[in-house]
Amino acid sequence: MKYVSTRGRAPVLSFEDAMLAGLARDGGLYVPETVPQMAADDIAALAGLSYEEVAFRVMRPFVDLPDDVFAGLIADAYAGFGHPARAPLVQLAPGHFLLELFHGPTLAFKDFAMQLIGRLFAEAMARKGERITIVGATSGDTGSAAIEAFRGLENVDVFILFPHGRVSEVQRRQMTTPVESNVHALALHGDFDDCQAAVKAMFNDHAFRDAVNLTAVNSINWARVLAQVVYFFTSAVALGAPHRKVSFTVPTGNFGDIFAGYIARRIGLPIDRLVVATNRNDILHRTLATGEHRKEGVEPTISPSMDIQVSSNFERALFDAYGRDGAAVTQLMDELRDNGGFPVSQGALQSLREVFDSGRASEDETGATIRATHAETGELLCPHSAVGVKVAAEHLDPAVPMITLATAHPAKFPDAVEAATGYRPPLPNRMADLYDRPERMTEVANDLTDIQSLIRKRIAS
Ligand SMILES: *Cc1c(COP(=O)(O)O)cnc(C)c1O
Repeated sequence: MKYVSTRGRAPVLSFEDAMLAGLARDGGLYVPETVPQMAADDIAALAGLSYEEVAFRVMRPFVDLPDDVFAGLIADAYAGFGHPARAPLVQLAPGHFLLELFHGPTLAFKDFAMQLIGRLFAEAMARKGERITIVGATSGDTGSAAIEAFRGLENVDVFILFPHGRVSEVQRRQMTTPVESNVHALALHGDFDDCQAAVKAMFNDHAFRDAVNLTAVNSINWARVLAQVVYFFTSAVALGAPHRKVSFTVPTGNFGDIFAGYIARRIGLPIDRLVVATNRNDILHRTLATGEHRKEGVEPTISPSMDIQVSSNFERALFDAYGRDGAAVTQLMDELRDNGGFPVSQGALQSLREVFDSGRASEDETGATIRATHAETGELLCPHSAVGVKVAAEHLDPAVPMITLATAHPAKFPDAVEAATGYRPPLPNRMADLYDRPERMTEVANDLTDIQSLIRKRIAS
């Protein structure tokens, strides 16, 4: 399997090299050159299999590892999850289901990808005898999942930039309490887009990139998208696919999780609609509704992991919508950087709308959805999942079951959940001592040179 850049001017790479590279050298994102198809019979045969077995069958055509090695890494990756189904499905209402993706070690769906790619990286580094520096930007959950996956690994340093004061206490503590010396939590004075811009700038500084052997595990990393494709299959098959269509609603910020759903659909899973659900930072909803992709300021919300206006993975969807024209995508991304936005062409908009619907939830609607869902079903939603449930309810079709992705555990955002329901969700027992562990982090200014010299210093010591 070969991977190409969305901007068309970077080397074509293998799965492993695309994973290790993260961002392509032309600033683009890696995507598979062609998407391998899965026949309806092969999808039907997934029914009743374990999560790990489905993961192996769905991902194998995209990966170039020996089967036994890959199967072993998958088994190991999900062994630490707190639920035997890994991604259990619960019913909220007739025709509406919730896919609980928060039973991993850091209580958010990011663990599905990160636990696997931590092991893929470790395997590759051991084989190559190299050392790498992972740098990531996080709105909270990616960073904690990455630190959890990479802590203590030999040959890897992990630096996570998060917006100072804008992540929840549980998110922060998950990043600042690991004691391993290869873990570096950096609290940046700025918002998430500043963090993401700093990471992108480091990647585009090729001298720095090569000097520290930089790699990214943000949702721009193709291996992460791939790992997330799996639960679209397990849940759709549980509801009768391929004999029956399903739709998904995905709480979205960086367009990573929903893009995984799009890939599942391209592989052949009969997905009817993919519904983008945003909070009031609604660039993706506005884009699909109006055809104008335009940044506005980021406003903090109770669903902070979606407080994003530069939605990196959307570039992957645009690449397909523009007929895989790397030059066209480059031009759009230049316009976004220089002018803050661009109009999506009529043809591209039409092709996006063939697959994607969208909606948004205000802060009040999010709180009201947490409250109503708890009262009606007993299910406690985190605010991100509540954005999804609210938008999903507006897109229900009696003929097609809807699956909303529950992206984080309610205990990761206890203040918002308590404000809505009066009930403070406790952490699962296995991490109940999180509030007692000492914290360790470094505050940094929003200054690229400072951050780069800090990274150089830390990895030299
Ligand atoms: C990361 C995250 C999201 C957004 O996912 P994207 O892949 O960036 O769209 C939503 N909810 C939670 C809890 C998250 O951690």
